Amino acid sequence: MKVLIIGNGGRESAVAKKLAHDKRISQLYFAKGNATTETLGKNLPFDDIAQLRDFAIKEQIDFTFVGPELPLVNGIVDEFQKHNLKIFGPTKRAADLEGSKAYSKKFMLQNGVRTAKAEIFDSYTLAKEYVQNQKYPLVIKASGLAAGKGVVICEDVEHAEATLRQFMIDKIFGDAGIKVVVEQFLKGFEASVIAFWNGKKAFPCVSAKDYKKIGNHDKGLNTGGMGTVAPSPEFTAEHFADFQKNILEPTAKGIKDNALNFVGFIFFGVLVENNECYLLEYNMRLGDPETQVIMALLESNLYDVVADCFRGNELDLKFSDKKAVCLVMTSGGYPGNYEVGYEITGLDKVKDSEVLFAGAEIQHGKIVTNGGRVLNIVATGDTYQEARKKVYQDAKTLHFDYAYYREDIGNF
Ligand code: ATP
Repeated sequence: MKVLIIGNGGRESAVAKKLAHDKRISQLYFAKGNATTETLGKNLPFDDIAQLRDFAIKEQIDFTFVGPELPLVNGIVDEFQKHNLKIFGPTKRAADLEGSKAYSKKFMLQNGVRTAKAEIFDSYTLAKEYVQNQKYPLVIKASGLAAGKGVVICEDVEHAEATLRQFMIDKIFGDAGIKVVVEQFLKGFEASVIAFWNGKKAFPCVSAKDYKKIGNHDKGLNTGGMGTVAPSPEFTAEHFADFQKNILEPTAKGIKDNALNFVGFIFFGVLVENNECYLLEYNMRLGDPETQVIMALLESNLYDVVADCFRGNELDLKFSDKKAVCLVMTSGGYPGNYEVGYEITGLDKVKDSEVLFAGAEIQHGKIVTNGGRVLNIVATGDTYQEARKKVYQDAKTLHFDYAYYREDIGNF
C-alpha cells in the first residue's frame, strides 16, 4: 500500500507516525514534508495539485491524505476524484464550509446548527448602517480565508466602521474581505472537536483545548497554535452531549441534505456560553496542533479507521483515558518576523515525550529550523500535570538559537 500525505506541519508528522508503523503500508510519500517525515518516507519537492495528481497516477498511490486547507479549497479532492484516485478530504464545495464564512454561516442557520446570530453583507453601505445600532462588542469577519487575521472583535461603532472600511473598501485581505459576516459576540470558553466523516455519519474524537496566543496566560498576538491538551478539561460530558444534539447532528443532516459527498474530517470550533455550545467555525480538515494530542490518545488503528470511512462503515473509535499535552516550540519573533537556519540539538536526551517536527528540515545530516512553528513536544500521563511535566522537562533538553515556547500549556 502506498500513501501520499500532503502538508508539512506537526499535524502531518503526527499522522505519519501513526501510519508508519502499519505493516500494510509499504511506502509513505510527503508533499512537501519536514524533518520527521523524511525519516518515515520520502519527501517530494513539489506540492502543486497537477504535479501531485500526475505523481499519484504514475506511482499508483493507494490513497492520499490532505492536511492543510489551501489545497482543499483549491479543489485537490475534485481533481484526484476525476482520475479515480482515492483521497481523504472534502470536495471543493464541502471545503467552502471553511473557505467561505458567509456560506458556512448560511449553512449553519439553514440547518439548525446552534451559532451566534449574524447577518451577511456584500454592500458596505448596508453593513455600515447595520452596525449603528447593535450591541457591543460586535464581531466582524472577512468571509474568505485571511490567514487567521480576518476576525475582529469591535468594541464600539467607530471600531466597527473602521473595520468594515478596511475589509470592504481598502480590501486589506483582497477579495477575501469584500463580503463580511457581522456577528453577535459570545462570552465563554472555546473547545475543538474533530470528527471523522464516513460519507454518512460523523464520529467525534476526544475534545481538545487550543492555546492560540503567543504569550503566557493568553497574552499577545494570535498564532497558528502554541499548544494543546486533550481532552479539553472544561468541556464536560454534558457539553459534549449538547454539542452532539445542537451542532454535530444538524451538521450531519445538512451535509447529507446538501449532497456534499466526501469522506474526511470535520473540525468544529465551539464556544460554550452559559453551558450551551455554539459553533464558531468549521474547518474541513484536521487542526494543528489539535491533531498531535488527539493522535496521542487514539488507540484505534488509523489506517483501519480511514479504510472504514472510505467504505462508509460505522466506526468504533477508541481513545485512551489518559491526558495528552502538546507544546509548540517556535522561532523567536514568530508570529512576526523570525530567522531560520538554526541547528536543533539535544534530541538524543529527550526522555518521555515524542518530538514531532514542523518548521524543520534535514540539511547535510543536521536538523535545522525552517519555519515559525518549529517542533512539537507531545506526552501523555494520568493527569495533565504529569503529561505537562514530561513535556517541559524534555523542552529544556532541546536547543536551537532564539527558541521560544509558552510556560503555561496544560497548567490547570
Ligand atoms: P482560526 O484562526 O481558528 O482559523 P478563523 O480566523 O477562521 O479562526 P473564527 O474561528 O471564526 O475565525 O474566529 C477566530 C476567533 O475569534 C475565535 O477562535 C474566537 O476566539 C473569536 N470569535 C469568533 N467569533 C466569535 C464570537 N461570535 N464571539 C466571540 N468570539 C468570537
